[in-house]
Parts: sequence; structure tokens; C-alpha cells
Amino acid sequence: MQVSENSQDDFLFIDDSDEDEILDGTSKETWQVLIVDDDPEIHSVTQLALSDLEVLGRRLEYLHAYSGQDACKLIEENHDIVLVLLDVVMETDDAGLNVVKHIRENLHRQDIRIVLRTGQPGYAPEESVIKEYDINDYKTKTELTRRKLVTTVYAAIRSYQQIATVTESRQGLEKIVSGSASLLELHSITEYCQGTLKQLIQLIDQDIECLFCARGQGIIEHADDLSFYIIAQQGYSSVLANQKLETLKDEKISKQVKSCFTQKTHQYFDDSLYLYIAKGGYRAVIYLTLNETLSDIQKQLLEVFLAGIAIGYENVHLFQKLSNAAYKDWLTNLANRLEFVRLLDTFAKDDGEHQVAALIDLNHFSDVNDALGQDVGNQLLTAVAQRLQTLSCTCKIARVGADVFGMIGSQSCLTPDALLTLFEQPFTAGEQKLPINACFGFCTKEHASGSGVQVLNQINIALNLAKKKQVEHFAYYNPEMEDETQWRLNMIRQLRTDFADNRLELWYQPQLDLSSGKVIGAEALLRWRTTDGNFISPAIFIPLAEYSGLIVDIGDWVVNQACAQIKVLEGKIFGDITISVNVSIPQFRRGNFVDTVLSAIKNHKIQPSKLELEITENILMDDPQVVIDALVKLKNHDISIALDDFGTGFSSLSYLQKLPLDRLKVDRAFITDIAQEGQSVIAETIIDLGKKMNLKVIAEGIEEIEQQERLLELGCDEVQGFYYAKPMPANEFMKFLQNNS
Ligand code: C2E
Ligand code: MG
Ligand code: MG
Repeated sequence: MQVSENSQDDFLFIDDSDEDEILDGTSKETWQVLIVDDDPEIHSVTQLALSDLEVLGRRLEYLHAYSGQDACKLIEENHDIVLVLLDVVMETDDAGLNVVKHIRENLHRQDIRIVLRTGQPGYAPEESVIKEYDINDYKTKTELTRRKLVTTVYAAIRSYQQIATVTESRQGLEKIVSGSASLLELHSITEYCQGTLKQLIQLIDQDIECLFCARGQGIIEHADDLSFYIIAQQGYSSVLANQKLETLKDEKISKQVKSCFTQKTHQYFDDSLYLYIAKGGYRAVIYLTLNETLSDIQKQLLEVFLAGIAIGYENVHLFQKLSNAAYKDWLTNLANRLEFVRLLDTFAKDDGEHQVAALIDLNHFSDVNDALGQDVGNQLLTAVAQRLQTLSCTCKIARVGADVFGMIGSQSCLTPDALLTLFEQPFTAGEQKLPINACFGFCTKEHASGSGVQVLNQINIALNLAKKKQVEHFAYYNPEMEDETQWRLNMIRQLRTDFADNRLELWYQPQLDLSSGKVIGAEALLRWRTTDGNFISPAIFIPLAEYSGLIVDIGDWVVNQACAQIKVLEGKIFGDITISVNVSIPQFRRGNFVDTVLSAIKNHKIQPSKLELEITENILMDDPQVVIDALVKLKNHDISIALDDFGTGFSSLSYLQKLPLDRLKVDRAFITDIAQEGQSVIAETIIDLGKKMNLKVIAEGIEEIEQQERLLELGCDEVQGFYYAKPMPANEFMKFLQNNS
């Protein structure tokens, strides 16, 4: 287009400038200003007028476009243009306005400042355009004296700078907000620290190295509390995380981090920063290198960022504490049951072969607790926990129950032998040295299946089996065990309902005086006839009843049933007949055993001496004194006591001597071959022992006359066995008595 008609081209030479605004600086950085005008002369005069102008410490740099189209292209290509001095009327009447539209609408550049200029006042853009497109100024060229131009440019660039600052702050804050949101999702301390460093790098927008440093205690396993550790790192090629700060081998950094800790403030240097983070007693220092010094805005943003980080840092510690409470054992600081289940989950899923999981159950822990007090009990558990940790540092250890520990480790290291060795030496608890044994259940990776809870159950099955073993107190789980367990559970369930439905019977096996052949008593023996009419052997169901505790109620029923039978006998002519009932360990464990027996005798109004209790030696293994006390009380009430299966158990003679016994029962095992040459030694010894202890001796399991004859020779008092009679129901027993009296 033509140069303006009222061609006051010399307007730019009117020197009305305030020289103060034109500074003589030497800054390298510039502001890019685009001059758009179809009149080349306007370009040169504008440039001339603005020469030497420095705005906010920077000189101006000019780009030139001679049409609207050129201008659009230049703006697209140059992202650093801050100001466009734009002629309105060029190739078309609205070419300038189209450039404005393009900048704002297509390029979405809201920050670029625009000053519209026109030679003809008549071509003034509508006010709406000025408002809508955020035009800084609209000037007719005549208005643009040198002074006015400088002022306009100056104001426009300042306004650009403000917008840029606001934009930078806003973007920084957006980064902080979105960064904090993603940090909020991190619950582990190390992940949080790592995330913090990543966000920090984004915020500073430089390619830097940084370290997150804190005292290691509570964050890094086995960290001693006095040292500074590197919790997280960014930008370093070597792995430094989880190591002491000293590993970095940089005296300056180590010293500066510590000083930041003690001085409790950020420390800014041109090439590095030490940022102090503290909230609620949780403190850390972030060290980072800088390629460029930070702008004031960046520093301010950094402070905002760090305030948020400190809060998050405290939170993540508190979260860790909560999760420790949920997953750690309060006493030993080992993993707890919940955590062990999680570890077993991974154990079952991981590919790692040759792994094994174990449960370690201390024997008689409750005795220690009861006898020496809980404090000593706790000290013992802590000592055991420590001992277990000496096995191998790669084993994972947990306390799964009060006196049950869990371990996961390699099959070569976590073996029954290795564990047994750990229990060879006594444990120190307070003043005491306590010898402790344990039972071990194992499950190898190969057999572990399902979830952690299921694996725990599998090891438990092995452990329970180990507890029942007499010699080796360990067992490895195999899937067949589970079938066995299932079978046992079904049996117990069935026994419970059948007992409730009164399907158990008490049968009687006669006992005879050997020399006279007179029936002197009977042993009451339980019979379980299931709904399908089959008998299940007591040898099978009594251990299940004992295991499930059902034996307590069943035992009560047996005693009452036997007393009722004694009453029936007393009413007949068989008043001398004694009835023996078998008693199991769990019946003694329940405190009121003596009372229940005495009240059964009272209720049935029978002579106490007619009732005999048969106990086995094994009953003494658990808690001899409790059993002895109970038996002495019963004996004082004139109830008879017999020692069953004598010779097959493990108890010591010294304990046996304390028992208030009336009879010894020689086990069938010593009777079977008694008639054979040289096979009667044990029976003979027992019979002699019984005589010396002033006890009656009864032999069990006589099936042949030869056995009877040999027993007569040995001086045995009484006999019981199929040779005389098999166990029989009560009514048959009554008939038997009638026929044999
Ligand atoms: P036990 O107390 O040693 O009972 C003797 C067992 O030997 C009985 O087995 C009896 O039937 C069997 N027996 C007797 N004479 C002979 C013989 O000549 N030859 C052979 N082969 N066996 C003979 P049963 O009735 O199967 O009982 C097994 C065990 O179950 C009993 O051994 C006892 O320990 C337990 N038991 C039975 N009833 C009760 C009860 O009411 N309470 C408790 N706690 N245990 C019971
Ligand atoms: Mg018996
Ligand atoms: Mg027996």
C-alpha cells in the first residue's frame, strides 16, 4: 500500500524523547520485535527511533515483514517474538487485523503484545477488535513521535514480561499441583523421595543431578541412626540409593548436606542447591546441581514446592508407621502374620525354585509364661527371634502367632537340621537360661499352591503332624496330608453329631482273677456304630476325639455311663464287680475333672471303690504334677487307679512312684509271645515290679491257654482278653455275669 497520505514521515524525527529511558546496556539477551508495514521506510525510521533502547536490561532485536502474510509466517517460525508493531492496512484493508486474528486464534499466542498503527485515522479498527484480541495500543502513525513510540514499546514489553511471569508461575504451579497429586499416590518412603526428585527436575527444567538425603533409620533396613543415607537419586549413572552419603566420596557435598541439616535452612549456590525439608520431626536434605542459576520466580516456586514436599514427606512417614503397625510384630519387630501371608503369596507365585517356607512352634512356651511371667516370656520370644535371624541374612522371618515363627528361605539353608541346631543351646531371658525345643513344619516351593493363606495352612498341616511325631519333630507338607486332614475333619464332624445323637455305646470286657477264674470286673470300652451300621475302632476315633477336645464331653458321658452300670450291678448279686474306664489327657487339662468324677459317683450313689480310672503313662508327659494332684484327690475318695499299657510309654519310674496306683496293666504287646521260650522277660519284670510296689497286676490281651498258663507261673493276679471274653454290650455283659457266677 501507499505511504500515508498526509505523509508526516518525519514525525519520527521529532525528538521529544526522555533520554533516561534509552539506556546504554550491554546485555546479550534481546527482545524480538516484529515490524510489519508495507512501507520500507517505516521499518527504518521505527528502528532508528528505537535504537539504543534497552527495556528491562535487554536490547531490542528487529524482524521485518512487509505484508500480513509474511508477518504470519514469521510469527509461526519465531517463538521469541514479544511485540508486533503492526500496520493495519497493507495488501488488503484488513491485512493487519487478519494477522491479529491469526496470532490469537490460530497460534493461540496470548502473550505476544500487539501495537496497531495506521496512517489513516479512517481505518481505525473497531473497538471490539481491540478488546477481543487484546491489542496493547492503537496509534495513528502521526501520533507516533519518537517519545511516544518508546513509551508504547516500553509498556508493551513490560506487559509481555508480566504475562510471561504469570504464565511461568502458573505452569510451575500446575506442575507442582499435578506433581503433588501423583506424589500423593506413593506410599513407600523411597518411592516418594524418588518421585520428589523427578518432579523437582521438571520444575527446574534443567538436566541436573540430585540426591535425596536423610538419616536412614526406619527407612533403610539395618541403617544405623547416626549416618546420612542417600534415599533416592536422579541423574547419576551409578547406584547410590540406600547407601551412606559417604559412598559418594564427595567431601564438599557430605559437609554441605550436614550443615544444611544443622542450620535448618536452604542453601543456594550458583551451581548447586541444598534444600532443607522438615515437618513434624521428619527431616531431609535435597542436594542438586544447577546448570543455570535459578530465576527469582523459580526460587519462589521451589519454596512452594518444598513446602508441599515436606508435608508429603511427613505423611509418607506416618503412612509407613501405620503400615508397620499393620504388618510388623510389635515385640520382635519382625514381620507379623499378615505380612507373612503376603510373603507367602509371593513365595507361591514367584518362579524362584529351591525355596522353602517353614513354621517354627516353640514347645511349652505357655509354661514359661505361666511360671516365670510375661516379661520373661517376651524376652524369650525376642531371644528366639534373634537366634533365628542368625540362620541366614536372606531368610525372611516373621512372628506368626504368640510362640510361632515363620521363615522363608532357600532349601539348602532352611533345613530341619539347621533349625534344630539353633535350638541346641538354651536361650537367655532375663536372668534365666531356658532350654527350649520346637516343632517345625515345612512346605517346599514345589508343593506350595494357591494364595498365601492357603500356603500357611499347608505348612500348618505339616506342623501339626510334626507335633504328633514322637521322635522327629518336623514334617514336610505334601498334598496327601491335606486329604488326610480333610478325612480327619469329616470324621470329627461325624463323631460330634453321632455323639450328640447318642450313637456311642459303652461295651464291657470282663476281667478275671487268674487263680480262681472269677469275674472281678470289666473294662468299659467305647464303641462307635455309625449310621451305616459299621463300627469304627476306638484306636481311630479316640485320638480324633482327643485332638478335637470332644473327648472331654465323651469322657464325662463314659464315666456317668459306667457309674450307672455299677449301680445296676450293685442292685444285682454282682456287687463286687469293678468297672474301669479309660481317661485321656485332655480330661485332666480341664480343671474340674476331679469334681465331675466325684459328682458322677454321688449322683449314681455308688461306692467309689467300684470305679477304676485307667490312665496311660503318656498322660504324665504333659504336666505330671497336675495329673498326680488330681489322682491323689480321687484316690483319697477311694477311687481306684490303674496304669494301662504299662511298659509302652515314656515316663520315668520316679514319676510312676508318685502315682497313687492300685493296679498295673501289662500291655498286650508283652503277652502275645509270652508262651514262647525266652519271650516273657518283660512281662516277668513288670509283674515283679508290681509286686514290689504292692500293686495288683492284670495282663491284657490273653488269647490262648498257653499264655494263661505262663502268666500263672509268673504269678500274675488278673487277666483280660479274648480268650475269656470279647468286649460286649451291657445287656450281654449282664448275661455273661449270670452264666459265669
Ligand atoms: P485299652 O485301654 O488298652 O483297651 C484294651 C484294648 O484291647 C481294647 O481295644 C480291647 O478290645 C482290646 N483287647 C482286649 N483283649 C484283647 C485280645 O485278647 N486280643 C486283642 N487283639 N485285643 C484285645 P479297643 O476297644 O479297640 O480300644 C482301643 C483303645 O481305645 C483302648 O485301649 C483305649 O486306649 C481306647 N479307649 C477305648 N474306650 C475308651 C474310652 O472310653 N475312653 C478313652 N479315653 N479311651 C478309650
Ligand atoms: Mg484300657
Ligand atoms: Mg491297654
